[in-house]
Amino acid sequence: MPYNEPHPAEVRIISKRFGLPNSASIDTYLANEGYQALDKALGMTPDAIIDELKVSNLRGRGGAGFPTGLKWSFVPRTSPKPKYVMVNADESEPGTCKDRLLMEFDPHQLLEGMMIGAYVIGAQRGYIYIRGEYRYLIEIMDRAIEEAYARGYLGDKLHGTDFTFHVRTHTGAGAYECGEESALLESFEGKRGIPRIRPPFPAVAGAYASPTLLNNVETFSSVPAVLRMGGPAYAELGVPRNGGTRMLCLSGHVNTPGVYEVPLGFPMMRVVNELGGGMRAGKKLKAVVPGGSSCPLLKAEECDIPMDYDSLAKAKSMLGSGGMIVMDEDTDMVRVALRIMRFYQHESCGWCIPCREGTTWLKKLLTRFVDGMGQPNDIVMIGDLAKNMLGRTFCPLGDAAAMPTIAIIEKFRDEFEAYLADGPKPRREELVYA
Ligand code: SF4
Repeated sequence: MPYNEPHPAEVRIISKRFGLPNSASIDTYLANEGYQALDKALGMTPDAIIDELKVSNLRGRGGAGFPTGLKWSFVPRTSPKPKYVMVNADESEPGTCKDRLLMEFDPHQLLEGMMIGAYVIGAQRGYIYIRGEYRYLIEIMDRAIEEAYARGYLGDKLHGTDFTFHVRTHTGAGAYECGEESALLESFEGKRGIPRIRPPFPAVAGAYASPTLLNNVETFSSVPAVLRMGGPAYAELGVPRNGGTRMLCLSGHVNTPGVYEVPLGFPMMRVVNELGGGMRAGKKLKAVVPGGSSCPLLKAEECDIPMDYDSLAKAKSMLGSGGMIVMDEDTDMVRVALRIMRFYQHESCGWCIPCREGTTWLKKLLTRFVDGMGQPNDIVMIGDLAKNMLGRTFCPLGDAAAMPTIAIIEKFRDEFEAYLADGPKPRREELVYA
């Protein structure tokens, strides 16, 4: 798949090799700053690398935004157990498709980030847990791993040091829940993909109950740039406490959807109007999902906001996984709520009752609404049900289902009332093509 030219508003740090011929090959990588960060890392102490990551303000790109340097410091390096590096490549948050591109166009950048992680914690084995639907990426990653072995970047006693590191890919089976780190580890060990009770956290007891450094693809892919540029320079790309750049997956009712790399703190409306080329067919903006379907939606008047973890948290939403979905004035928000809930109900692993029952009942109530059979007290019941799930489930999937539902009910209550007053509405496609 070809990749688009950089947009002038982009700052390409981890996607800068995307447009190069054979960008996935080790030769292209080596000719374009590849493995320079690893060379630098091998001359540093693990503590110095962790300090550099802390200074860089790199935060986990998977959703939670936890500071990466701090997370790496939690792995007990002196533990006598084997240590593991685990990449969460189970990207499946609706609206998100950038880890896919990072693996497709620049697999060695991910491997280099893993190698640096392995050196820091003293791991000899690393795994890339790739979602089942990304099967074609396994071939690309396996080829890159083979190249890295052939050129002496993977194997035993590397670069004349004691550093030994081996990497394998591992396929998931297509469960959204396995993107949750502890469920991913269960699935990796060949068990049913349900979350573990924590603590202990994976840093201390992850794969095979051993210390495990677990980050997602974008986070590991950002590590080489941090070491190459230095922590302070990387931090300065973004805004305070939010260092570097972020891959945004822009979809919905804009003219030029795509995956764009921008500095943390980039204004949301510039994403819509410049990167996205404005609203499709000159329609008005109604709402934006800022970072994947689990993030509370922002109404148009709330979208004058910088895209960073703290600003979005202040607006009671999240930067999440970078999946930004833009909705125009014709979007039926009751149907949006139902579409989101159908996904979470389907993906609930069923282990805990608030999520298993909550998503099922919310789907039933929202379906009833869309079918024109909603009852006046359903609006309150949907809100109450969702609020009762919040914070009461084993893993974040329950919250992920509840948060957008609560936001839609609170911000677009008039649309639910219109369904009660007017009955069912035609689907959008029927509106467009009638
Ligand atoms: Fe499973 Fe949902 Fe409970 Fe998570 S919140 S453990 S997905 S039932």
